[in-house]
Amino acid sequence: MKRIAIGQVRQETNSFNPVLTERSHFDDYGLVRGDAVVERYGDVGELSGFTELPRILGAPVEWVGLCRAVTWSGGPLAPGLLAELIEMTAAPLRAGSVDGVLISLHGAQSAVDDPDVSGRVLEAVRAAVGPATPLVATLDLHANLTPLMVRSADVLIGYHTFPHVDEDATGARAAAALARLLDTRKRPAVNAWKLPMVHNGDGRSTDRGIQRDLWRRIVAAEAADDVASVGLYPVQPWLDAPYLGWTFYQAYWSAEPPLDPRSVAQECWATRAYSEAERFMTPDELVAAARAIDGRPVAVSEYHDATNSGAPGDSTRMLAALLAGRIGEGGALAFCVDPKSVDRCAQAGSGAAVDLTVGGARDPYSEPLAVSARVERVGTLAYRLTGHGGHNFPVDMGRMARVRIGEVTVVLVEKTGPGSSPLLYEAAGVDPRRFKIVLAKSPEGFRNDYEPFAAAILYCAAPGCASPYLERLRFTRTTRPLYPWDGLTAPEEAGWAGPMDRQAALIEG
Ligand SMILES: [Zn+2]
Repeated sequence: MKRIAIGQVRQETNSFNPVLTERSHFDDYGLVRGDAVVERYGDVGELSGFTELPRILGAPVEWVGLCRAVTWSGGPLAPGLLAELIEMTAAPLRAGSVDGVLISLHGAQSAVDDPDVSGRVLEAVRAAVGPATPLVATLDLHANLTPLMVRSADVLIGYHTFPHVDEDATGARAAAALARLLDTRKRPAVNAWKLPMVHNGDGRSTDRGIQRDLWRRIVAAEAADDVASVGLYPVQPWLDAPYLGWTFYQAYWSAEPPLDPRSVAQECWATRAYSEAERFMTPDELVAAARAIDGRPVAVSEYHDATNSGAPGDSTRMLAALLAGRIGEGGALAFCVDPKSVDRCAQAGSGAAVDLTVGGARDPYSEPLAVSARVERVGTLAYRLTGHGGHNFPVDMGRMARVRIGEVTVVLVEKTGPGSSPLLYEAAGVDPRRFKIVLAKSPEGFRNDYEPFAAAILYCAAPGCASPYLERLRFTRTTRPLYPWDGLTAPEEAGWAGPMDRQAALIEG
């Protein structure tokens, strides 16, 4: 029976969020090691696809659980935490040999002590198993591929959807790639083409928008024989790290890559200035626009404070506009990460009138708001997320207090979590369909979950850790030159970008 290592080290990091990610944030989302990886999380996210391997092989496997260390998007990992995660991942591999490795990573995860968490984890796994053991890793579509990642893994497999609704399918594609590697001593060639550009992602869903066509060709190309992986990675841009930029990645056994990387790179580069920025409204404009729309709810992206993009989740920019403007029938529904106010409400109890100072404590771009509120409900907020950003994913946002401030209902939570799903509000005991305006702290993925019942979808932008206006954020660690900062007119002008190749190889023995 094949012994297959399985693990997950995953978070999307926002370098501009000053709230560091601690070990306790991983504990909140279920940090486990050993057999518990499969026993407790074998039906969650990418792991649910990995565990298809026995079915693909037509034979049982012996799972060697490494660790499952997942937490919600947020600030960089605190000092020392990366070393801890690497040790949890690599120690079981040093203790006994395995036939192959499946590991789920994000690819845009960074730490205070190293900007390339996913690369370092892969490097450690490779060092522990040696060059001959097949190693397949999955990545978010917004991964920032680095030379270390490309060199360390035999195959990298990314999501093919944005909004992300294919976590389990991606895991299963990785399991299929590993199955083939277990059966051959040939290792595929890799071509990863780096583009010296970043973009806020605007208008770049896979199911619509300017790159829908390219995504169809990518999915079709990967389905061909002799192809292990084809993926485009339009990196999440709130990552201040070396090699920041888009990557087009292919791993293949055929003589030539399935798609011409240079022409795909050119095609992507040609869209670099494409933007749908006209849809962004200031908070005040947004309240007026929502009021003018017939029907409800109007689902609103609180783009600049998207917890899905790793922002702190307590910006008061939009909340202040909601409290100031008359919304009318239905009112508004929002959430805010504010442990202090949760504590105050829990002490006061359900039904109490309280004076609160809400938000603006974690977010460096807004001020706390002094409000008088009525506590409607106190409790805890936990649910299972299936939709954008999660497949059967257990979410725990800690204690919560639902309060009413004038026309606005605010779900105050102790800890950050997904901002894209209406399940958050349902878990707090309210039906988002009944409100006129509902806020989602998500730049785009929320559309997948709200569109089925929303009267309209609007986008709000203000200063924040996940502002769509990238030029206004201060990047210091990126490799330059880089679009849109340095006046590049062709990708070749950036000597650091271009192909990161790995030759096909035959493993000896
Ligand atoms: Zn993503």
